[in-house]
Amino acid sequence: MSELPYSYDAPVSQALFDRAAAVTPGGVNSPVRAFRAVGGTPRFMVSGHGPYLTDADGRDYVDLVCSWGPMILGHSHPEVIAAVQDAVSRGTSFGTPGEGEVALAEEMVARIEPLEQVRLVSSGTEATMSAIRLARGFTRRTKVIKFAGCYHGHVDSLLAAAGSGVATFALPDTPGVTGAQAGDTIVLPYNDLESVQEAFHRHPGEIACVITEASPGNMGVVPPGPGFNQGLKDACRENGALYISDEVMTGFRTSKAGWYGIDGVRPDLMTFGKVMGGGFPAAAFGGREDVMAHLAPAGPVYQAGTLSGNPVATAAGLAQLRLLDDAAYDTVNAVSAQIQALVTEALTKEGVAHRLQTASNMFSVFFTDRAVRDYEDARKQESFRFTAFFHAMLANGVYLPPSSFESWFVSTAHDERAVQRIADALPAAARAAAEAQA
Ligand code: PLP
Repeated sequence: MSELPYSYDAPVSQALFDRAAAVTPGGVNSPVRAFRAVGGTPRFMVSGHGPYLTDADGRDYVDLVCSWGPMILGHSHPEVIAAVQDAVSRGTSFGTPGEGEVALAEEMVARIEPLEQVRLVSSGTEATMSAIRLARGFTRRTKVIKFAGCYHGHVDSLLAAAGSGVATFALPDTPGVTGAQAGDTIVLPYNDLESVQEAFHRHPGEIACVITEASPGNMGVVPPGPGFNQGLKDACRENGALYISDEVMTGFRTSKAGWYGIDGVRPDLMTFGKVMGGGFPAAAFGGREDVMAHLAPAGPVYQAGTLSGNPVATAAGLAQLRLLDDAAYDTVNAVSAQIQALVTEALTKEGVAHRLQTASNMFSVFFTDRAVRDYEDARKQESFRFTAFFHAMLANGVYLPPSSFESWFVSTAHDERAVQRIADALPAAARAAAEAQA
């Protein structure tokens, strides 16, 4: 592996990006990948091993994105690859039930006590969309409460004041979502229980569910304040609504039982994706058995998928989950803490106002001197400092999420050498952040 410093040009990635732009809108298949928030050429990656990604120009990077969360064991983990190869050798899709999907569901149910039944789907978006439909079908109510800055995938009704790419591009809403689709969505400020109580008061008997990221990572990392999730759960119970905890990002990452394993607040429904798919398109929703019993074919609420429970995806997910024991979480948490300390030290040394916020091993840096409790706070940060910081890190072989509204992710594969690369890159990046102009 080559050592620092890296030159900044990426001619092969640029040529690929030009080709991509001719056949794909914006040259990417998911908006945040396009680097629009930070500028420059998105790196086209050709391989990943352990904590490193290698781009089409032959440069390698310590990866602090980990495919936006899934790669918690690092890239190309031999046991996950072996499980995938074994599954592929037996066929890639049957369109029938198979044992792998049962085993994956059993593993999930065994880890998370409120998860009594699970339905597998192929993306986090499908999981939240289906959970919302089920909540509406079960309660026979229409309205949904969500929080500004929380992203639940590109579900029409949930693309109001969403985080992630929607935050990055400052789109308060998106064309194509009709008034009817968004009209039943009530968007409230995060970490504000009073506004939740008020909404229930204003709409008696109308609210089907409250959906929240278990601990938000899509406006940067903004954990729930003490008692917030419990307060949501209580408000739902008192008003006959369902409490949906979106653990697509936190599930099986923040602990063995996800964020539920940390705050113990019992959701009625939960959604999952990312880590449980081992780098393949597998996701899920599940929860109370009496609620899940309303789902087809057991009940009347329709939901289906040609590739749901795909044998290759479930094999990858199961292999990854089985490797995620207590020791693995200790490793991820420890390396995350180490990197957090290095980042804080470097920025403090250069006098850069910042807040490093954490949720277990997820963390992100806000360029502001105030605590960030909601989306409004997050938007007040000096994002131009992140842009300078990001490019300096990239030039020195560290790949960060290309937006200041995203969580950073680490893996069990981030070893001493990878951490040293980050430590070496940080001083110049902190200086760049300090010198950046709006
Ligand atoms: N929910 C949360 C909390 C997420 O972070 C995401 C994606 O980042 C989703 C849902 C949507 O998942 P997917 O991108 O797999 O559709």
